[in-house]
Amino acid sequence: MGILRLVPILCGDARDLLPPLVEALDNLFGLQIELQPHSFDPEIAFDSSRGQYNSRVLLTELLRETDPEDTRILGVAGVDLFIPVLTYVFGEAQLDGRAAVVSIHRLDSQLYGLPPNRPLLLQRLRKEVIHELGHTYNLLHCHQHRCVMMSSTYVEGIDLKSDRFCDRCLAQLRRAKVPGRDVAGA
Ligand SMILES: [Zn+2]
Ligand SMILES: [Zn+2]
Repeated sequence: MGILRLVPILCGDARDLLPPLVEALDNLFGLQIELQPHSFDPEIAFDSSRGQYNSRVLLTELLRETDPEDTRILGVAGVDLFIPVLTYVFGEAQLDGRAAVVSIHRLDSQLYGLPPNRPLLLQRLRKEVIHELGHTYNLLHCHQHRCVMMSSTYVEGIDLKSDRFCDRCLAQLRRAKVPGRDVAGA
């Protein structure tokens, strides 16, 4: 069974979301999730002019942390992420690679002046993790509205899509022989 190493990155108070996230992701893509106890220091990826962290740099640095037996490495960050051409990103992944990173920062209702909603936050985080890991299995963005591989620019878009793959994305995963009971269609 392959291992997905889940690496906390400056999660702060959101750290207590990680054990339920591990539970919610168990056996996704047939991977066993291992929560790394120590946090990853993202300082090298910090851009002081933007006050955000460069997700591409984080991916490169996360790969250095990988043990040879890790099938995938996933950073879960409490801080805001960006790539140079965009104001922010919810996450980024290596297409057909091993590393992915997601940010909790813009998934939290409180950022939008709404009351805290932990179940919603966990649901959004789970969708984004599945989406980014989908990229590591070579899936591109999908135009099926409910498919988890639909690209989301705003947090509302994450709420509109499901946590499942559409038939076409699912067929691609099956052709690539990606295992796991949670690889299921919408
Ligand atoms: Zn994407
Ligand atoms: Zn799809």
